[in-house]
Order: sequence, then C-alpha cells, then structure tokens
Amino acid sequence: VDESGTVSESHKAPTPAHNLGDLISELVGLITTLQKQAKVVAVGIGIPGLRSVRTREIQTSPHIPCLQNVNLEAPLRERIGLPVVTENDANAGAYGEWASGAAKGLQHVVYITLGTGLGCGLVLSGTLFRGASGYAGEFGHTTVEPFGRRCACGAIGCLETRVSATGIVRTAREHLEKNPQSVLQTYQGDQLTAHRIYDAAIQGDKVAVAVFEETSRFLGLACANVMNLLNPEMIVIGGGVMASGEILLNGARKEAQLRAFRPSFLDCPIVQSKLWPDSGIIGAAMLARDAA
Ligand SMILES: [Zn+2]
Repeated sequence: VDESGTVSESHKAPTPAHNLGDLISELVGLITTLQKQAKVVAVGIGIPGLRSVRTREIQTSPHIPCLQNVNLEAPLRERIGLPVVTENDANAGAYGEWASGAAKGLQHVVYITLGTGLGCGLVLSGTLFRGASGYAGEFGHTTVEPFGRRCACGAIGCLETRVSATGIVRTAREHLEKNPQSVLQTYQGDQLTAHRIYDAAIQGDKVAVAVFEETSRFLGLACANVMNLLNPEMIVIGGGVMASGEILLNGARKEAQLRAFRPSFLDCPIVQSKLWPDSGIIGAAMLARDAA
C-alpha cells in the first residue's frame, strides 16, 4: 500500500493457525516477496481477535489460536528489521475507511463489517478509539435479544447471531421450518449460504426476502443504538455480506429512522464501504504509516 492508501501489490497465503513459527515464516515470506517489487518501510497487520494496548499482545484470537497471548510485533520486527504494527482487523478497517475511504475527512465514524461474524471499529474525534484495554468496538457481541440465540462467544442474543452470514443462515432455517415453500429448500446442510439466500431474494423468493427484511431490521436497530449512543457522522458498512449491496441497507435505514432520535439519524448516513475488500489492508498500512 502506498503512502496515499492505494493498494500497489497484493499476495495471498493460507494462515497457519496452529503454529506460531509457521505463521511468522509465512509473513516473512510474503514481506520478502513484496520487497522485491517495492521499498517497504513499515508493516501493518490486521488480526481478528482482542489486542491489548497495554502489552500489544493478542489476548485471544478464536480463528488463529497460535496467536493467543502473543506479541506478534517483536519477533517479526526482529526477523525483518522493519517497524511492525498490529491491530484488531475491524479497527484497521475503520481506520482505512476514515483515512482514505468512505469516511475520509470526518471526525466521528462507526465501521461495521459483516462476514462470518460482525466486526466493528470506531474513529471518534479523529482518533481510532480503542477503549481502556484495546477491546472497544465489540459491537457484534452487544445484546439485542436477551432470550435469543446462543452466540459463538458463549453469550445469548448477541447482535452477531442475527446480523452476519451465519445469522442470516440461522434466520433462513427458522423461516424454512415454518414455510417450506421456497427455492432455499433445495439446499442441504452447508449448501445453504447467505450468498444463496441473497440470490433467492433477488429472484423474489418470499422466504429469502423475509430473511433479509428481518436481518435488515436488526441491523437498523443496531445502527439506531449507535446513533443515539455516539451521534456519529457516518456509519460505514463493509464485509462479505455487503456484496448483497443495498438490499440490507435500505431496510436498515428505515428501521434506524424509526428508532433513533431524528436529528441524530439525519446527521448520520449509513453507507457502503468504499475500500472493501481492502479496508483492513489499507487501514493496517495507514496505521503503520502514522505510527512511524
Ligand atoms: Zn457474542
């Protein structure tokens, strides 16, 4: 990523999730490859999980268990001799949208990313807001239904159990039990995905449309909560599920309008990410740039 926040070159590799040595070697390999193409001055890394601002350790990363209680910055810096900055991936995404994406030039921005789960990052008063320990922005694990669904985090009724790819699939299964008349009925087990439900909704399948309406109401409710709590200037929504385009956002805007204070709602457009799928990459790079 260059200084202005444009991706110059990209490479992909599978993440060795269970062996820290392998993970570091993989990262060193990627960085070395990129160094052959351009001068690399700093490295920024977005990581799914809780990162402590006190120790710079990853406290927990459910999908990359080898990072638990690990400060990735120090060993990597030693291997490559460059400054290294790590950050929670949704925080990095928020920073990217604020530094060079949909929210460029604003002061108070909420970024929500919808994938397997629901991630969130906050830029408040022009600064990435990390909270006391670095764990702020875990909006996906705020409760929207006290007696709702069990979440992957262990709690009940988290926003993520409704508004995420997995939440959409769970909602579809509930609807299909009551109303089997749907093209979605043909998908068995893992074949039922948020993407297929979206395709069915676009084709006018009533069950799929109802699933997206229900999901967008929860998303709108969540946006209204954050509007009343923080009075942000913009809510930016990215993530794989947003490939669904405006179908979720229109419903979310309607619901947010019903629930938030009107002046707060009017001050806060809900928009799609400009940088997706690169928000986190660009944000991590911008964090490394700004830390230097
Ligand atoms: Zn949860």
